[in-house]
Order: sequence, then C-alpha cells, then structure tokens
Amino acid sequence: EAQKETLGFQAEVKQLLHLMVHSLYSNREIFLRELISNSSDAVDKLRFEALEKPELMGSDSELNIRVSIDSEAGTLTISDNGIGMDRDEVINNLGTIANSGTRKFLENMTGDQASDSGLIGQFGVGFYSSFIVADEVKVITRRADAAEDQAVMWDSTADGEFTVEYTTRSSRGTDIILLLKDDQKEFLDSWKVRQIISKYADHISLPVIMKGEPELDEEGKETKPAEDEVINKATALWTRSKSDISEDEYKEFYKHVSHDFDEPLTWSHNKVEGKLEYTSLLFLPKRAPFDLWQREAKHGLKLFVQRVFIMDDAEQFMPTYLRFVRGIIDSNDLPLNVSRELLQDSKVIDSIRSASTKKVLDMMKKLAKNQPEEYQAFWDTFGKVLKEGPAEDMGNKEKIAALLRFASTETGEAVQNVALANYIERMKEGQDKIYYVAAESHAAASNSPHIEIFKKKGIEVLLLSDPIDEWLMSHLTDFDGKEIVSVARGALDLDKMEEEKQTDEQKAEKEAGKKAKQEKFESLTAQLTKLLENEASEVRLSERLTDSPACLVADENSMTSQMERLMRSAGQ
Ligand code: ADP
Ligand code: MG
Repeated sequence: EAQKETLGFQAEVKQLLHLMVHSLYSNREIFLRELISNSSDAVDKLRFEALEKPELMGSDSELNIRVSIDSEAGTLTISDNGIGMDRDEVINNLGTIANSGTRKFLENMTGDQASDSGLIGQFGVGFYSSFIVADEVKVITRRADAAEDQAVMWDSTADGEFTVEYTTRSSRGTDIILLLKDDQKEFLDSWKVRQIISKYADHISLPVIMKGEPELDEEGKETKPAEDEVINKATALWTRSKSDISEDEYKEFYKHVSHDFDEPLTWSHNKVEGKLEYTSLLFLPKRAPFDLWQREAKHGLKLFVQRVFIMDDAEQFMPTYLRFVRGIIDSNDLPLNVSRELLQDSKVIDSIRSASTKKVLDMMKKLAKNQPEEYQAFWDTFGKVLKEGPAEDMGNKEKIAALLRFASTETGEAVQNVALANYIERMKEGQDKIYYVAAESHAAASNSPHIEIFKKKGIEVLLLSDPIDEWLMSHLTDFDGKEIVSVARGALDLDKMEEEKQTDEQKAEKEAGKKAKQEKFESLTAQLTKLLENEASEVRLSERLTDSPACLVADENSMTSQMERLMRSAGQ
C-alpha cells in the first residue's frame, strides 16, 4: 500500500518557502540551474556507488538529464537516471534538513522583502527554488537499489506541508515535475529553456537532453518524429583546453562545485603530465564560507579519478591554512576504488598536494601583484587563515610570508595592508631588523609605550592585534634575510644604529651620561626591584620611553606578554 503521510516542513524551510511564494524575484531562471546541478550530483553519486556494485548501473548506463515540456499540462519536468532517493532520504532532504544554502540565506536575510527576494536569486538555495516558478512540485524518485514499487512520490504546494507515498517507477532516478504558476508559462517555451540550459549547464559533463521538433509536411502531418537533442556541451569543463573555456563557464563551474552563490575571485587550471598525470582546477572564493572557523567543517577538493567522481571534500589535497580553496583534482594515477584511508598516506597525493599548494600560493602572489585592491579584499576575508601557514607549512614559509599583510605605524590605520617587502623598502639606514609590537587590540598596539622610541626615531613598527599573531611570529623569525623581532623583547639595538654614526668621543660622552644617570637613580631602582620582587625580575632605567614614565618588557628569552595571556586563556 502507498502509506501516504503528510509532514510539516522544518521551520527554516517554511520561512524560505514563504519568501519564494510571496516575493518578486529578480532572477527566476536559477531554479533550473539548481535542479540540473542536483541531477548532476545524483549521477555522480550513482557512478561512484556503482564502482563497488555494478548491478546498480545495470543496463541503464547512458547517464543523462532530460528536460521535458508539457504545454497542455503546464508542466516542466527535469529527470535523471542518477542514484535516486528512498523514502527516508526524501523526507530528510526535501523538508527536514535545511541545506547549507538555506542556512546561509537565512543568515543574510534582512527582513526587507524586496532585497531578500534579490538574495534568493543570488543564493539559489537548491531544490526549494522550484517554488519560485511553480505552484506545485512533485518528485517521483526511485533509489538505484530499490524495487520498482518502492519508488516514492513527494508532493507539495509550499503551504507548510508536504506528502510522501510509495509509487512505482520503471527505472532508477528522479523526476522533478513543476506545475508552473500562471505568470511563469514562459518556461514552457522550448527555445527559452534551451537558452537557460546552455547558460548554466555547459560545464556539466552529463548530456542535458530535450526533444526536438518533429518534421512536418505542408499539411502538418509528421514526416519525421522528434529526436533527442543534446543541449549543453556535455564534457567535463576541466578536460577542455583552456583557450576554449570562457570566463563565464569557469564562473558557473565554480558555483557548481563550491555551492557558493557568488563568483570566484580567481582560478588556476592546470594539466600536469609526466611522472604523474592529473588536472587541477583551483578557485579562490570571494566570500568566506559560514563554517570557515568551525573545526569539523568540511573542506577540500572534489576528487575525480579518470573523470569519475570519487568524493567531495578530499581535504588531503590542501593544507589546512588553505581550507577556503575550492575546486577539483582529476587524477589518472589513483585507483578508482581509492578510499579516504588510502588517501592518508600516498606518495601520489603528497606530490599533488605540494604542487597544488604552490599553484595556490602563486595564484595569490599574482593577484597581489596585478590586482592589489582585490588582493586586499581577499586578505581582509582570509588573512587570518593564511596566518596559520608559516607554522603549518615550513617549506613554503617564505612564499607565505610574502603574502602576509600587517597594520603599521607607517600608515597609522587599523587596516592590514603593509607587506614585509614594503617594510624592508622603508627601512632606515643601518636598520637590519623588522620590528613589531603585538597587543590585544590595534589601539593598544599603536599606543604601546614600547614603540615610543621607534616613533621618535622614525622607525616603522608593525602593529599586530589578531589573536593568532604571536603564534604566527613565533614561527616567522625572518624574512628576506632580515630578522623579525618584537619591540617588547630585551635590550634594544636602536642605539647601535646611532653609534655607528657617532665619533668615539661622542660615544664616550654618552656612556658617561648614562652611567651618571644610573648612579643617580640606583637607590630608586633598587627599592623598586625589591618592592616588585614578585612581579618583576628587575627594574631598570630605560632609554626607550619618551612620553610614558614606565613600561613592562619581557626578558630576551621569556614569552612575551600577549603570548602569556594566550597560554593563560588556553588554561596552561
Ligand atoms: P544541496 O544540493 O545543496 O544539497 P538541494 O536543496 O539542492 O541542496 O538538495 C537537497 C538534497 O536533496 C540533495 O543534497 C540530495 O540529497 C537530494 N536531491 C535533490 N535532487 C536530487 C536528485 N535529482 N536526485 C537525488 N537526490 C536529490
Ligand atoms: Mg543542490
């Protein structure tokens, strides 16, 4: 029996559907992109499962997506022979679990209907975008391993509820049947639909098929039946030659693999031949994913082996500090049955990873050089992640260091836009070190008494205030042959710079002055040292302060104070 049940949508989904139904949409056609993208994913999943269980593929091995129009019924149907869904999957995927797009969308919602409906166009929000153009959506789906009569029909008019019941489907796969709204009948126009498909689905490796027109004689009698036509290019984008791929195609492909609604910032497409053979297509996003800072967040690249989709989120191909990179690797050297465990220690992976890491760093370097404004925006979004790099990836330390940006006394602004190379260019004569101060906030750093003397002497100091900065600096001790040192550490060598310019007499005079001062204040510093016995190891006179009466400095070998705070907050 059909066991029909009626279920309510999850609250977030309900909220979203309400907007779909009641708002105006700037970009209605994106529903087709979303549904084709889902079909493509479903076919990828089938291909993968069939590697172990060839019976899932059976004789139905011409994988494709079919789009059909029924003008009389007023329906547009998107069908695929992919993995399909069983009853539980239908209930979970199409009603209960808000996908990542939905969550992002809800986070970005302003409450203003006009601008929120514009957001839908950008986001896509997956399957639910069907309701932009349809009053009613029916899904008929049969999982590849389910019996003919265990297919499932899902039905909803987006009024808060949906129904599921068993039905029959002669073969595996999914039909999404859209009963178009009265004012959306333009999507019954075959020419229009074809146009949209070429726009959004050229990069998909699967053919998207529509029925052509039958040939008619003068009396309108059919002389040749309508034939299937493949509408898209239907070759995996990355296998095509770079010169044949348009910017728009790369951008669409990015949206498809990343599930991002925004365009990528830049990309790098590489075909590698020789000892290893693989293709990589790597993208830098514009926006941070909502889970960039969640430890358990999925990241990594989509892995294909000889064009067969193997897995999402293969994190072995990218170091953690590049976890925002999206894209694909298609290898000819890995076995088709490669597992996550196998990826853990494989020479092939190591070498793809290290080459791809270099590609990404080069891509950033190029961006910084050629499009400094874009690079700055990129840095503002992902800089904190990149700062994990020098600790994680010793081998590429110098490359990563060149990409870092800092706030500095030179600009006086909180924005991090000074490269170490800029700093070095501005170094004073005789200065051989890069100086920085780290504090809890930018204001604290730029007002730190430690840098008074530097300011006075016109020596630039990098102002660090991100929590990760001290950790970063503990792994970044030099750049381009210049030592990087904290101003808070030990005795300063500023004097040395001056001394080099001074005559012996001047030096002797200064030394004498210093000594006299020390003697004068000896009893005071001795008393203070005693008084602060438990707080400080020594109280001494300093040449470093110009405005403040006193400051705390760390020993040459001890942790700096911000590091101490960090350790304390971590419970050490
Ligand atoms: P997303 O694609 O981001 O996961 P969607 O809302 O587009 O979100 O789809 C939700 C889920 O529904 C998919 O993850 C998939 O599990 C399932 N699904 C959607 N369309 C199909 C389909 N044609 N075949 C099989 N499963 C599908
Ligand atoms: Mg989707």
